[in-house]
Amino acid sequence: MSGAENPRSIRISARGCGNSAGSARFVNVVSNGQWSDDSIAEALMSGAADMVEISVDAGGKSAYESARSGASHDRLMRNLSRLREMKRSRASKTIIGIRLMIRPSTRSREREYLRAWSPLCDVIFAQYVSKPSILTDGEDMYTSSHELLGTTPHCSYPSRAMQIKADGSVPLCGINGHSPKDSAIMLGNILDSGIEELWKHPILSRYREAHGARVEALMPVCRGCPGA
Ligand code: SF4
Repeated sequence: MSGAENPRSIRISARGCGNSAGSARFVNVVSNGQWSDDSIAEALMSGAADMVEISVDAGGKSAYESARSGASHDRLMRNLSRLREMKRSRASKTIIGIRLMIRPSTRSREREYLRAWSPLCDVIFAQYVSKPSILTDGEDMYTSSHELLGTTPHCSYPSRAMQIKADGSVPLCGINGHSPKDSAIMLGNILDSGIEELWKHPILSRYREAHGARVEALMPVCRGCPGA
């Protein structure tokens, strides 16, 4: 995942129960916490989402701002604080999560960063920032061994989550959603189809079953996955 995200991006993952017959049960909104309109915090804590996850970079203000073009660390801290206030005042059950992005340069202090950020949320977890190997060397990111070796990872993504991008489009998975057009698989758009219909989409079902049974021929885009 590239650290240079849209400074005001929000995306949604619907998490399900592992098969096409099941329904999407857990709605997870992921944001970089860069909104400038206070009503967004209110909407996020309205109870529509089960979890609101804020993606942040370990390493302090300068590391955060250099990883995210146009983003402001001060705005992030203000919005996080506003989110917590809103949760308290509304007695919202929505979980506030922090996804702490860890790079090779911050890996040795991962525990320290997790401890520092954890009072600001209900749950926290680390994610290692990876990059496709076609990007230039020297970037402060990991490269997936599956991409380097051309292997197919064991992956549960299609059984547990479905990403909805800010424009409503729904890719096969969060990783494939960043692929070039010729290899990206789009299942549809939430503005045109219901979430259940998309969750049961034949392509998503095929990838779910292919991963379960380890039939690589049925999941060609997963070979050399750069993010797993
Ligand atoms: S492309 Fe990667 S993340 Fe997506 S389903 Fe395949 S292995 Fe999983």
